[in-house]
Amino acid sequence: MSTLVIRNGTLIDGTGSPPLRNDALVIEGNRIASVGVLPAHVPLGDPQKVRVIDAAGQWIMPGLIDAHVHLSYGYPTLKGEGRGRNSSRAELTALKAARSAQKVLRAGVTSISVPGGTWFTDVGVRDAIKLGLMEGPRVYCAGRMIVTYGCIEDDEPSWVGSPDHIIGKLCNTADEMVTEVRRQAKHGVNFIKMADSRSGESQMISKQEIAAVVGEAHRRNLRVAIHSRGSGSTRAAAEAGVDWIIHADLATDADLEAVAKAGIPIMPTATFLHTVIDLGNRLGPEQVQLDINRMKRHFDNLVTIMHRAREFGIKLLCGTDTGNNEFTRYGELHAKEAEILVTYGGFTPMEAIVACTRDNALAVGLAGDVGVLQPGKLADIIILKQDPLADIRVLQGGRHLAAVIKDGKPVALGEADAAVDRPLALSPA
Ligand SMILES: [Zn+2]
Repeated sequence: MSTLVIRNGTLIDGTGSPPLRNDALVIEGNRIASVGVLPAHVPLGDPQKVRVIDAAGQWIMPGLIDAHVHLSYGYPTLKGEGRGRNSSRAELTALKAARSAQKVLRAGVTSISVPGGTWFTDVGVRDAIKLGLMEGPRVYCAGRMIVTYGCIEDDEPSWVGSPDHIIGKLCNTADEMVTEVRRQAKHGVNFIKMADSRSGESQMISKQEIAAVVGEAHRRNLRVAIHSRGSGSTRAAAEAGVDWIIHADLATDADLEAVAKAGIPIMPTATFLHTVIDLGNRLGPEQVQLDINRMKRHFDNLVTIMHRAREFGIKLLCGTDTGNNEFTRYGELHAKEAEILVTYGGFTPMEAIVACTRDNALAVGLAGDVGVLQPGKLADIIILKQDPLADIRVLQGGRHLAAVIKDGKPVALGEADAAVDRPLALSPA
């Protein structure tokens, strides 16, 4: 078993405790063996047995977790690639997803939660990483989102239905939903993603249907998450026992009370809206093909929810929706939500770091096992050249990384492939 020792530097352990001067963080295999004074038995002088990283003048913290990334929507589009509706060919999508996952890891994101994708691409990418075929973050994924007529991702006309290449899986009764849960379970998803209406304009999935999905999923040891912007769907989801709620923009205080009572977190995912608004303001709304005023309203709602949720004692998870569009680029935005929590949500930088490390571990099925730097935990660690507590933006884009360690192994932070990583016309500055 190999030993890796990180010496010196400032330790931010992910629990919210004040930063500490680090003497030695010792990693044995893929887990943290000790934090604090260097144990006498570690043979520092033997490079065959121990590799040492000197982090003097640097900051050590848990690897970032982005709790909302889509790998298989088919982005980025490639020059010369034929375009149809929705994502492109399954085979090409799988290869792109694999490459995108590598970019995510090189940005210091050691785990991602993937709430929905095409085919079972994400399951394949997850397993390729797990089996050592390629480098990448830990992936915890859903399959196609369970939707009813008119929900987000039921974008085809009803006479077309729900072809295999789209992101939604049309299920119009509780029985059909349960069958789909069983099918996805058989194919190896980690959790089930349900999705209500796009903007919360009306409730399109009933509480009984959500409860049916939750019952079947939990029996099979799968979690359930839901895209819910509306009030009714948020309340129904909380009462039906989902594991986390994505967005919740239009939740009333009574809805938030139900969420608090259920003890489940909310993942606002304001990053996508912020990115659209920013691009729309700079390039003109026609460039992003989305209604900027509507996006602004949703963003303001989410900021209100961030404050109200905390007053209700509801935990907030950090997700960005990276990969849901051409301009939410892999590797760039994964820590943007932390900045938004600080700038708009009333969080301190330390609280934002805890949200996207320790607390986000729940959304990757590893609560208590990853996201904090303590003995016995999985060794997912980043080392930064600048202090993220002084400026939370230091976490973004991998620009200030000195090292990324995933599962106890240092990741090569080589130059990105210019042919694919060329700046897009719409790329955020
Ligand atoms: Zn999403």
